[in-house]
Amino acid sequence: MLDLLPEPIPALSDNYIWLLTDAAGNAAVVDPGDAGPVERVLAERGLTLRSILLTHHHPDHIAGVAALCQGRDVEVIAPVDERIPHADRRVGHGDIVNFSQPAAHFGVIAVPGHTTTHIAYAGEGLLFCGDTLFSLGCGRLFEGTPGQMLDSLNLLAALPDDTLVCCGHEYTQANARFALSIDGNNAGLKARAKEVDDKRLRGEPTVPSRMGTERATNPFLRTDSNAIVAWAAHKADAHDSVSRFAAVRRAKDDFR
Ligand code: ZN
Ligand code: FE
Repeated sequence: MLDLLPEPIPALSDNYIWLLTDAAGNAAVVDPGDAGPVERVLAERGLTLRSILLTHHHPDHIAGVAALCQGRDVEVIAPVDERIPHADRRVGHGDIVNFSQPAAHFGVIAVPGHTTTHIAYAGEGLLFCGDTLFSLGCGRLFEGTPGQMLDSLNLLAALPDDTLVCCGHEYTQANARFALSIDGNNAGLKARAKEVDDKRLRGEPTVPSRMGTERATNPFLRTDSNAIVAWAAHKADAHDSVSRFAAVRRAKDDFR
């Protein structure tokens, strides 16, 4: 079991590199897009980096891997994708990742949509979902179709309510403004938006969030809710879940 909750290490402009540790000082990180912030935390706390998990090939999630592996015995676990040059183990849907230091077990879930080979890791009450699910949002569809992304999000949304959603970016405040624009009568969403504003005022991360909260407030997980169905009724082509999802994603892309 993990001794500590996952900690977000801020990196680049708005990325989070997730850190897992145990009481003996072993560490794993998820999606190190920059080595510097990880090196600082390892040094400050006397931690030994043992493992790196990668969710997808974008540079802001992998660019720190080579430097972090320099002179260390680190296992890098990654999806099957040549665009990720450095990996010790390639994993896909249904595979299990077992760490001993820190001791943790994760299942691999294929979540195409943001990219075709994006994967997520779920276990220990945690979900590392990269740029697939954000708090109150979801990733842009760079490579996949709306149908693929909706299927991916539905797989993640089936995880237990208390799952801690550890996503790749601090996008929650902007996501909340968009969510309120299409689901403004949602009391849970209004409360979450207020909480997010307060946290950002104090300079705190808004994640991890809980899956139950996301299911109740994230418009991309609510395409079958009365509110989103009513919102989409004005869009000529939005009469099933996938086309409603596509309409919400398009509206978010255009939202300022
Ligand atoms: Zn990405
Ligand atoms: Fe990213």
